[in-house]
Amino acid sequence: MAKLSPLLKQATPVLAERGEGVYLYDADDRRYLDFTAGIGVTSTGHCHPRVVEAAQKQVATLVHGQYTTVMHRPLLRLTEALGEVLPAGLDSLFFLNSGSEAVEAAIRLARHATGRQNIVVFQGSFHGRTMGAAALTTAGTKFRAGIGPLMPGVAVAPFPQSYRYGWDEAEATRFALRELDYLLATASSPRDTAAFVVEPVLGEGGYIPAPPGFLEGLRERADRHGILLVVDEVQTGFGRTGRFWGHEHAGARPDVLISAKGLASGFPLSAIAAPAALMERGWPGSQGGTYGGNAVACAAALATLEVIRDEDLVAAADRLGARLGDGLRKVAADHPVIGDVRGLGLMRASEFTTPGGEPDAATAARAQQAAAGHGLLLLTCGAFGNVVRMIPPLVVSEPQIDDALALWSAAVADAAAP
Ligand code: PMP
Repeated sequence: MAKLSPLLKQATPVLAERGEGVYLYDADDRRYLDFTAGIGVTSTGHCHPRVVEAAQKQVATLVHGQYTTVMHRPLLRLTEALGEVLPAGLDSLFFLNSGSEAVEAAIRLARHATGRQNIVVFQGSFHGRTMGAAALTTAGTKFRAGIGPLMPGVAVAPFPQSYRYGWDEAEATRFALRELDYLLATASSPRDTAAFVVEPVLGEGGYIPAPPGFLEGLRERADRHGILLVVDEVQTGFGRTGRFWGHEHAGARPDVLISAKGLASGFPLSAIAAPAALMERGWPGSQGGTYGGNAVACAAALATLEVIRDEDLVAAADRLGARLGDGLRKVAADHPVIGDVRGLGLMRASEFTTPGGEPDAATAARAQQAAAGHGLLLLTCGAFGNVVRMIPPLVVSEPQIDDALALWSAAVADAAAP
């Protein structure tokens, strides 16, 4: 008899039997509002009928071809469809399975294409758990401690975390960009620096949107020094932030875009996109993986893109996200244990702090657990673990947002009770 590893730390007590839209059901048919969406994955909701149908059809036709061996139509169709939604010029794609693998692929491409080694990342970043991606991850010591030596050639610059610094966004942005210039002048010469890798909204690091001017500042420095701007849209892509891509909130075009999560509604699929001229500077044969671009995952992704378009889910994320943000601010106004509420679109969070403004992970954990008890599934995040995030499927309705807010208010009251 085998058992699950004791390393498993399950964030909620739920054993899910089935999912439908924004709801999960357990074996007793107890219903949960799922505001985790498989960690920002099931944007079209659980088991969207169009995604299910596309996957079922594909399973019965061709499950696996491996596109570096034989090509298949779902992958060609998906490539064409992604061409409609990717930033102009990023017309060349490579498919993998997970966010981490796509990050690894972007590191390889950036190093090959520039002939330089160093990658600059930003404090609070999360780029994955594989060894290269872990080296780029600074969202908490649990992702790095004891597994080293990590991949060398990584330098860390500040991310403009205005709430934590106690500064306004403009001041925090000026500071972060000045520190980046300092880093380039001292520890990571532009002649050695291949790429800046950045999330448009720090995800696991605490749901902190890049303030106005930050990504533009990176773009300007990337252009000046011949450094690539790699945007990790694993968590922010496919409408999550109320724009198709998170970086669209800024006026900065990426050189390489990394995507996963919302791409295929829960089927394992990720991709990197770059201009063909840049992709050509990678080394042939350097990228790949047995399951990358799986036919069923590609068919599901194609249906996902159609659902996002036909159900206008990007606009819905913007509109419903504003409602969620307003509601979260109201809850915070009633409960001083919440020091900050922030986010974009349907990527929102509440940060728990002590009366002195220090991170309060214990109260955040109690609120997350209490919410699960009330039937609302949530996750924590943040380098200090004191942030509770909401990432509902983009198909969520206004009444469901209001239900979630009522449950959240009750959960925070429970957590704040002496
Ligand atoms: N990048 C970002 C921004 C992420 O949020 C994540 C996952 N949370 C990853 C990369 C890694 O993705 P995966 O877990 O699919 O490897």
